[in-house]
Amino acid sequence: MKIKAQISMVMNLDKCIGCHTCSITCKNVWTNRQGAEYMYFNNVETKPGIGYPKHWENQEKWKGGWELKNGRLQLRSGNKATRLAKLFYHPDQPEMDDYYEPWTYDYETLITSQRKNHQPIARPRSLITQKRMEIKWGPNWEDDLAAGESARQDYNLQNIAEDITLEFHDLFMKYLPRTCNHCLNPACVAACPSGAIYKRDEDGVVLVSQDGCRGWRHCVPACPYKKVYFNWKTNKAEKCIFCFPRLENGLPTVCADSCVGRLRYMGVLLYDMDKVKEAASTPDKGEIYHSMLDIILNPHDPEVIAAAKDAGIPANWLEAAQNSPVYKMVKEWQVALPLHVEYRTLPMVWYVPPLSPITQRAEADVYLPAVQEMRIPLSYIAELFAAGNVGVVEKVLQRLLDMRMVMRTQETGEKLSRKLEYELETYQAMYRLMGIAKYKDRFNIPAGLTGESQDKLRELQGSCGYNCPGGC
Ligand code: SF4
Ligand code: SF4
Repeated sequence: MKIKAQISMVMNLDKCIGCHTCSITCKNVWTNRQGAEYMYFNNVETKPGIGYPKHWENQEKWKGGWELKNGRLQLRSGNKATRLAKLFYHPDQPEMDDYYEPWTYDYETLITSQRKNHQPIARPRSLITQKRMEIKWGPNWEDDLAAGESARQDYNLQNIAEDITLEFHDLFMKYLPRTCNHCLNPACVAACPSGAIYKRDEDGVVLVSQDGCRGWRHCVPACPYKKVYFNWKTNKAEKCIFCFPRLENGLPTVCADSCVGRLRYMGVLLYDMDKVKEAASTPDKGEIYHSMLDIILNPHDPEVIAAAKDAGIPANWLEAAQNSPVYKMVKEWQVALPLHVEYRTLPMVWYVPPLSPITQRAEADVYLPAVQEMRIPLSYIAELFAAGNVGVVEKVLQRLLDMRMVMRTQETGEKLSRKLEYELETYQAMYRLMGIAKYKDRFNIPAGLTGESQDKLRELQGSCGYNCPGGC
């Protein structure tokens, strides 16, 4: 057993309101400069939809992630020799149009205009060419299904189109915030010919060395989530850095800290590195999720604690792993799932799938629909989070529904109508963490060297997500 620590994130999708605050705060901090205008390390998509960049989930087009070839794990973009042959020309690169052409407006016209009969207009201007342009697509063009037809082209619908109609009365949508997943088996790292992308030993954050990057761009198509970007100004690859300077000081990422829905959680997971390859090579793609759970270790197990100490994991990291909100949701309660686990990169950003709006019928005081009656089709959620394994999604949603049932019956005094999988206290704990958790419960990040910064942070933070003057 080779124990490693990983900083990981969970997003509770039922609480995302699609406000894009996370994308904007991230943009202002990390990609607000020339060459990076089109980049969103964090973006929020409306699903169904084709996303950003367009059709990123179609690996037949991009050849991202890993596949099993004769039982062996291999990058979809080919073996070493094939990739070497593509060194100077890689045909599967996304182009600017696959993202969008970034623009600004002629604000100057508004400010400097003379008094006229008609109001002046600020026309759009390309941030790349500086020329006037017509806006045809943007990073959230499909917001709230606004792009209409593109929803039908969602790659996840191709196998289940017959079960799903996108007619008005059956319409459904959900938001999907996305960042780099800081995967345990990152395809971007494996594809880089210069060895410039690496996974940090101490916390699993995946970074691009700006000194080492030679601009080969093999990482861009290799990442199946399309979360490595090419900076046209510096000729280097860039990606989400999980706000590592903040992590080192015990602070969550900017996207998590600023999240209006308070749906993001961050904490430590311990995993067995010796079993990563085996988990990623699970023959049945619908079972990869279970293999991932198997490599995540119980931080309360004395054997794991001893091995972690031997591996040099600091005491405050071990303690953080034991109190990790991520561990609770991912492994203990099993209510969070990885996005597109079939890409075999073993992503470390997890999602609590959405239950859809819960209806309350007039004829009954306590009414919750069955999991199968939910508005968002189970098969669709399964395509996103369980490689099509509907059984996995059904179980997760049932746990979430049971949590709501427990809390409702507690209010009304009604008897529970079905046998529960977990103890009553577990559902109450789930509700406290997933429904009403305070800042210090949502984020448990050990500071780089000592626990001091973390204690200081808790002292400062109070109960809301903001530590600015006026925060509560
Ligand atoms: S999600 Fe991040 S770590 Fe995973 S392959 Fe893509 S860029 Fe690499
Ligand atoms: S800030 Fe939070 S609620 Fe708003 S879009 Fe981002 S993840 Fe969703």
